[in-house]
Amino acid sequence: MSQLRTELIDLQFLGYPLAIAAYLLDDGADAALVEVGPTSTAETLLREVQARGVPLERVRHLIVTHIHLDHAGALGWLLQRLPQATAYVHPIGAPHMLDPSRLISSASRLYGEMMERLWGEVIPVPQERLRIVRDGESLAVAGRTLLTVDTPGHARHHHAYLDEATGVLFAGDIAGVRMPGTTYVRPPTPPPELDIEAWQASLAKLRVLPIQQLALTHFGVFDDVERHLNELETRLLDWAAFTRKQIEQGVSDSELMQRLRDYGNEEMRQQGAEPSSYDLGAGYELIALGFARYWRKKLGLS
Ligand SMILES: [Zn+2]
Repeated sequence: MSQLRTELIDLQFLGYPLAIAAYLLDDGADAALVEVGPTSTAETLLREVQARGVPLERVRHLIVTHIHLDHAGALGWLLQRLPQATAYVHPIGAPHMLDPSRLISSASRLYGEMMERLWGEVIPVPQERLRIVRDGESLAVAGRTLLTVDTPGHARHHHAYLDEATGVLFAGDIAGVRMPGTTYVRPPTPPPELDIEAWQASLAKLRVLPIQQLALTHFGVFDDVERHLNELETRLLDWAAFTRKQIEQGVSDSELMQRLRDYGNEEMRQQGAEPSSYDLGAGYELIALGFARYWRKKLGLS
């Protein structure tokens, strides 16, 4: 019986701990990464994989929950260094990994001059190295089976993966952002694909799965699955109502961001969480822009 290992790797994004995680799955003969982070942290990722006694030739599966650059930006770069590896991507995300030009231009609109420093180069994934994964598919990797769960809401191209051997759910961003040692869950709601109803449906799907632990990309592993998902959903709906009111009153994006930040940070202090520790995983700017776009479209304001 081989030993199944699941290890969190802190990618030390921009030099900060607890911002972006990748998970290394290994059975001694076959290894997978769930989430790979951006190219800017890819050297760190490979170094940390080797430091855990896993030779790079053993890494055959690069599985991403969705194609946002903090989760999947390094795929193309890593495939050049991991000759045995295949990238596993959602059908809606796949075209943007083969040709990342639209991904890069939409990220450039959000991040401007910060692009290169934040994410590094985004290299196209060659067609023959890409495997499209579909809802309900079981992936046999690293000595276990990962169940693919289509989980739109944060983005349309989002999967969560349930490790059926251990009950660990690799949740990407659909289960929110939470720092170790705290209970507070922040919903990351960036533009342009935020969809509150789809997010709720995804959470309903997760609630009926035999999940023992949530493995978040931002940041870490948590056991209180039901409480965590309930808090996330309650806050998502509360923030949706809060932002809707502001948008109906005609506030600007920057005003909305400030109001939501004041509102959210007050909640965090009451729960004993440190607001700034959440900002690298889910900053208020993108959260506010996501809600603003969602509501303007829905309410027919434009
Ligand atoms: Zn993310």
